[in-house]
Amino acid sequence: MMFKVPRGTKDLLPEETGKWQAVESLIRETCRLYRYEEIRTPIFEQTELFTRSVGDTTDIVQKEMYTFEDRGGRSLTLRPEGTAPVVRAFVEHKMFGSPDQPVKLYYMGQMFRYERQQAGRYRQFVQFGVEAIGSASPAIDAEVISLAMDVYQRAGLKDLKLVINSLGDKESREAHREALIRHFEPSIGEFCSDCQNRLQKNPLRILDCKVDREHPLMDSAPALTDYLNDGSAAYFGEVKKSLDALGIDYVVDPNLVRGLDYYNHTAFEIMSTSDGFGAITTLCGGGRYNGLSEDIGGPEAPGIGFAMSIERFLMALEAEGKMPETESRLDAFIVALDEESRKEAVKILGNLRREGIAADMDYMDRKMKAQMKAADRQKAGFVIVIGEDELKNGAAGVKNMADGTQETVEFGRLAETLKSRS
Ligand code: ATP
Ligand code: MG
Repeated sequence: MMFKVPRGTKDLLPEETGKWQAVESLIRETCRLYRYEEIRTPIFEQTELFTRSVGDTTDIVQKEMYTFEDRGGRSLTLRPEGTAPVVRAFVEHKMFGSPDQPVKLYYMGQMFRYERQQAGRYRQFVQFGVEAIGSASPAIDAEVISLAMDVYQRAGLKDLKLVINSLGDKESREAHREALIRHFEPSIGEFCSDCQNRLQKNPLRILDCKVDREHPLMDSAPALTDYLNDGSAAYFGEVKKSLDALGIDYVVDPNLVRGLDYYNHTAFEIMSTSDGFGAITTLCGGGRYNGLSEDIGGPEAPGIGFAMSIERFLMALEAEGKMPETESRLDAFIVALDEESRKEAVKILGNLRREGIAADMDYMDRKMKAQMKAADRQKAGFVIVIGEDELKNGAAGVKNMADGTQETVEFGRLAETLKSRS
């Protein structure tokens, strides 16, 4: 019996994790510049949190959730997205009471969706996302968008396209909803069964359908932007002005609707326009979700956020040839030539590490030559050689691998010597 990783998941081996860590630290540093602080919520939540907030006519809730019953009979779901859990925590911990509003949070963690595996689409993937909760200022919409763009640009990506749209407020959406029903109803028989269900429940979802994407009625469907009331149109105008003030380029796409129900007003996506990127071009998606807090039992707390997966981020870096160079280096490698030297080496190794020096030695009883090769492979800055003579003199041979110079150093002074030489 051979075991394999479950379909849609993957192991990240050390060659990969270095790249991940580089991207993760760039993300954390960018969040610090914008004063977003990290929040970590559980991997699973009560199922109802997602059915209520994400919406029960969405693909996520209908087809993609990993839902299970625990031994106590509770229905739990592996989180498919991060916004609902963060808003749940915001309400539960009464963060709306903090003097610092909006509350600005970020998260980075595994999400789970039962999807068909393809490039850039996994069943377990890692999303980095931010949420700014408590402010209805259009300037914070622009800040959130700018943070996402900044993360990509600081990583060196250039082939980016920002697409924005406004979904309007409740009143605008209601007017648009009616127009959509009028538009699709006469020919709804030509659409998939999901769309037929969506028609009365949530016709906006039809525009997001992956099956009927090519149907001619899709392109001619009434655009949300034509149904914005004055307040919503003015809000969208202010968001655009703030983006202009930040010098961020964008295109408005009136057909951009997002795959989750809780969005209103600003919606946006960032795409990769790089040739090498492949079929799925969306790197990041986000939007405003006024009303979500109330929907899950909290006070009024307008919010906006986005999510991007690290997997697609790395694909874009690969496509643009901007993958971070990561090299694991060792400060010192101890080559020990016999049994007694090995015992001394163990002691020295302990000392070096206590002094903050990254060090290793051979544990395979290898010959000197093979040990030297191991030191080379591990890119050791210094090789410390201990044999019979060295033991007798209480001093090791130290070779600087960068310039080939050698010296003899007392065992007790190895740490300070290495520090002063590097
Ligand atoms: P799509 O239309 O590609 O299915 P979505 O609307 O489901 O995207 P969101 O829920 O907005 O995506 O998630 C935000 C981001 O998370 C996406 O832009 C993408 O970077 C990433 N993402 C979503 N689903 C997956 C997945 N299955 N595997 C890897 N990354 C994903
Ligand atoms: Mg999806």
